[in-house]
Parts: sequence; C-alpha cells; structure tokens
Amino acid sequence: MLRSIAVVAPTRTFARAYATATSPHALLLIEHRNGAVESGSLSALTAAQQLGGPVTGIVVGGPDEVPGILEKAKKLKGLTSILHSASPQYAFSVPEIVSPLLEKLLGSGTPYTHVVSSHSSAAKALLPRVAAKLDVPAVSDITGLEHDASSGSTTFTRPIYAGNAIATVRAPSTVPVKFFTVRSTAFSAAPEDESASPEVKALEPVQVTDSPTEHISTELTKSDRPELGTAKRVVSGGRALKNAETFKKTLDPLADVLGAAVGASRAAVDAGYADNSLQVGQTGKVVAPELYMAIGISGAIQHLAGMKDSKMIVAINKDADAPIFQVADVGLVADLFDAVPELTEKLKN
Ligand SMILES: Cc1cc2nc3c(=O)[nH]c(=O)nc-3n(C[C@H](O)[C@H](O)[C@H](O)COP(=O)(O)OP(=O)(O)OC[C@H]3O[C@@H](n4cnc5c(N)ncnc54)[C@H](O)[C@@H]3O)c2cc1C
Repeated sequence: MLRSIAVVAPTRTFARAYATATSPHALLLIEHRNGAVESGSLSALTAAQQLGGPVTGIVVGGPDEVPGILEKAKKLKGLTSILHSASPQYAFSVPEIVSPLLEKLLGSGTPYTHVVSSHSSAAKALLPRVAAKLDVPAVSDITGLEHDASSGSTTFTRPIYAGNAIATVRAPSTVPVKFFTVRSTAFSAAPEDESASPEVKALEPVQVTDSPTEHISTELTKSDRPELGTAKRVVSGGRALKNAETFKKTLDPLADVLGAAVGASRAAVDAGYADNSLQVGQTGKVVAPELYMAIGISGAIQHLAGMKDSKMIVAINKDADAPIFQVADVGLVADLFDAVPELTEKLKN
C-alpha cells in the first residue's frame, strides 16, 4: 500500500480575515430524504465527534420536510445544537441556492472550524462550492481524521487510485474553516439518544433570485429492495450474466431469499443488464455490507475499490484464477448458472 502526504492550504489572503481558532466546532450537514435522515449523515456525525469539540447540525429543506427531520435530528447522540432553515427554494437541494446560506453562516467571525458531510452526490456538489467561495480547500471522501487542538491543524486520510494508496492530507491552522466529506463505510452510524436535548435555532433563508440553475424534475428508480449503499447483504452480478433478462432471473431469487440489495459490475451496467444506480466500484457506489456476493465478476481493481471492505466476500466464478478469489473469504469455482439456482434452493429450505 502506497502512502502520500500533502498539505492543503488557502491560496489567497481571505483566510487571514479570520482569527485562528484552535478549539474545534464542527458544522454537520444533516442530509435527508423521504422524511428520514440519510444514513451517511449518521456516519459523518461520528466523524465530526472525533474532532473533539461541539457538533452543530444544520437541516436545510422545504417547509414540509424540515419540522419532521428536526424532530429526528434532536434524538441523535452527539449533536450539541441544531440549526434549521426551511423555504420552498430549499426543497430540492440545488447547490447554487443552498450555498449562500452556508456562506453567510461561515463568513467572518463564524464559530465553526470544520464543515462536515457525508460523501453524497448532493454534498459533493455543495461543499466544494461553498469552500471555493470562502477560498478554503475541501478534502473529500476521508476515512480517518485526527485534530491537533494545540496547533489547530487537522490530518485526514483518504483513499486514492481506486483504494490502492492512502493519502494523508493535513489542513493546517491557517485554514480557518476546514471542509471535508466522509466515506460512510469508514465510520459507524451515530446512534439515537432519547435523552438528547440539543439547542435548536431557526435560520432565516437567504433568498436567491438569480440562480443559474433550477430544479426541473427528479426521477428515482423505484425498488422494494434495501438501498444498495446501506444494505447489510449485497448480491452483485457481472458480465457473465449475459443479458438483462438472465441477470434478473438468476440474481433476484437469491437476493430475495437473502433480503439483499442487488449490485452490478460496470461491465454489466454498460451492457445494459442493470441500472446505473446499481454499479459498485470506483465510479459507482462504495459499499461495505456484512455479506457481498460477487457472481460472475472478475474482480478488476476498479470493482474491488467499491466492495473490498465488505465483512464477508463470497465469489462464484468459473475461472479459478479470477482475481476476485484473492479478496474472497469464500470462493466457489463453478458455473454460476448451475451454482446460483442450487444455492437459492438450498437457502430457501
Ligand atoms: C476509470 C475506470 C473506472 C471503472 N470503474 C468501475 C466500477 O466502478 N465498477 C466496476 O465494476 N468496474 C469498473 N471499471 C471496469 C473494470 O475495469 C472491469 O472492466 C469491470 O469491473 C469488469 O466487469 P466484470 O467483472 O463483470 O466483467 P469481466 O471482467 O468480463 O469478468 C467476467 C467474469 O465472469 C466469469 N464468468 C464467465 N462466465 C461465467 C459463468 N458461466 N459462471 C461463472 N463465472 C463466469 C469470468 O471468468 C470472468 O471472471 C472501471 C474501469 C475504468 C478504466
């Protein structure tokens, strides 16, 4: 495993407008969907607590959603206080529209030293934008962190080159507000605490009338299965599944009997066997379930980058030399079209 070390620092003089704060105070973006706090935000809360200071959560959204999410956020263990801002303009989390609210909150004199979020698509669009406006760097997809309270610097680790190297990145004390996104699989989810009583404060929305982008529509893939990113069990298929019909016919019964989410290699997605949202890997989702079954997947490094932290990896492949067997805990050298139906039947019984 390669290791590299880098220091990130603000490029212009803006940072000097802030007093250098050494006592950390994190601002955590609490993301939500369909009335629930996103699980990635729970992992980000755990990471934020490791800084060793108070953690303030911020809930931004439409007026219909914010009150319900606020109630759920109040029960999270580890939040010192919660800010919330509700407006119809925040209903779809358009980065250009949410950014001014954060910019105002993080401007000169802000008490916050860190801005933390899960490494979600929405956060990847929002946080670097706000950081750039404040002329501070953002560190993405971290898997570890350490804050040095005496110097005010924070050191992060983050995988690079599809997980083949770990970069150690230090944001020095001259970075007044350190932005980072968190790889959810690297931190456990913060639990609930019925006795939690964080301070709650409403924030006036910042009206944006000249956004260059607007939300038109959202199309979501509907599925009764567990969500791929957070499922405890995942059954993934590769190019060997031949086509969309055999992919579904072979893997769905196994996923049903295991209560698992379905995933796919990029080759399977590119060939149209499975939806884009199911891709696991460097350019897909990163998952770390208790059980990951790789079926007819060769185990290219780009695929491994998305699943190698799974607790138990089971591989079925007819090629005994397939690289997937190097990371598998249990391997079966067999034709998947024989092995998967047989396994499914045995599990049913
Ligand atoms: C920049 C970049 C990013 C990428 N990102 C990703 C990513 O996010 N995710 C990803 O998955 N890939 C990604 N890839 C592609 C990756 O390199 C591989 O091409 C891809 O993972 C291969 O998919 P596969 O294992 O399904 O197909 P193959 O490599 O073709 O493997 C098929 C496997 O099925 C086995 N097999 C065939 N028939 C049977 C059978 N009947 N029974 C049992 N086994 C059988 C074969 O022995 C073989 O091992 C990326 C590539 C690049 C360059």
